[in-house]
Amino acid sequence: MKNLGYYNGEYGLIEEMRIPMNDRVCWFGDGVYDAGPCANYIIYALDEHIDRFFNSAALLDMTPGLTKTELAELLQGLVCKLDSPSQFVYWQLTRGTAERNHAFPEKVAPNLWVMLKPAAIENIYEKVKLLTVEDTRFFHCNIKTLNLLPNVMASEKAKQAGCQEAVFHRGEQVTEGSHSNVHIFKNGLFQTAPTDNLILPGIARKHLIAQCKTLGIPVKEMPFTVKEMLDADEVMISSSSIFCKSASHINNQRVGGKAPELLQRLQDSVLAAFYQAVSLDRSIKASA
Ligand code: PLP
Repeated sequence: MKNLGYYNGEYGLIEEMRIPMNDRVCWFGDGVYDAGPCANYIIYALDEHIDRFFNSAALLDMTPGLTKTELAELLQGLVCKLDSPSQFVYWQLTRGTAERNHAFPEKVAPNLWVMLKPAAIENIYEKVKLLTVEDTRFFHCNIKTLNLLPNVMASEKAKQAGCQEAVFHRGEQVTEGSHSNVHIFKNGLFQTAPTDNLILPGIARKHLIAQCKTLGIPVKEMPFTVKEMLDADEVMISSSSIFCKSASHINNQRVGGKAPELLQRLQDSVLAAFYQAVSLDRSIKASA
């Protein structure tokens, strides 16, 4: 074979393989991988790569459905199917196949992928040119990227704690939720983090601000601290699917509940704007 793609026991040419769309790697990048070179049909440093692979999986609470020895034998068997004795050997484990939800799905088996392609051993004596780039890898939260692993892990942590959402903070500063924006009411003022690179510029957040302005509620786009959130009159999360929900507890501690009328005015207003936009009268819908 000129190359090889393997998925849970089936294999063929990479360009002919078909993968379930609900494999969590598609929605969240929810998986781990390892890779290395192969020459003369022998995968170099395979045990070390497999050790790291199992370690990466364990750190994300994933258990490969085979032993280290079984994986080594599988990979070694697959590389022998290629025409080229020199290859790039790549394998990955994804959490499984399930409907898109951030927190881990119940009882799904992980998916094992392998990708093999011919690759000559590099000329290591060749000089290379480099470029310095500031390390901003954790500062791109304003991009609605598919790389959602930290969000998935936080969401699962919240679920395990019997909560519906996790609230991220950097030091003392609250940023956003794992799949929502976070806001507070304090002394009649709606406060929310500004749309910089630390949060996703949520559409629901934008609508909340617009409704606040319509209702004459002052808005402050300024970061607040965890303590300010715990002491707030109301704490709210927003997203396109939940609009605006308020929190009763954070870390098992009671929060909010001190400005229920203000909260309801905003919630009513946001919902009314939605029903108006989709031309559904609430009373008609309720009686239908
Ligand atoms: N923040 C994050 C990390 C999200 O994933 C989401 C929604 O998916 C939001 C905020 C809210 O965005 P929106 O109101 O556009 O749904």
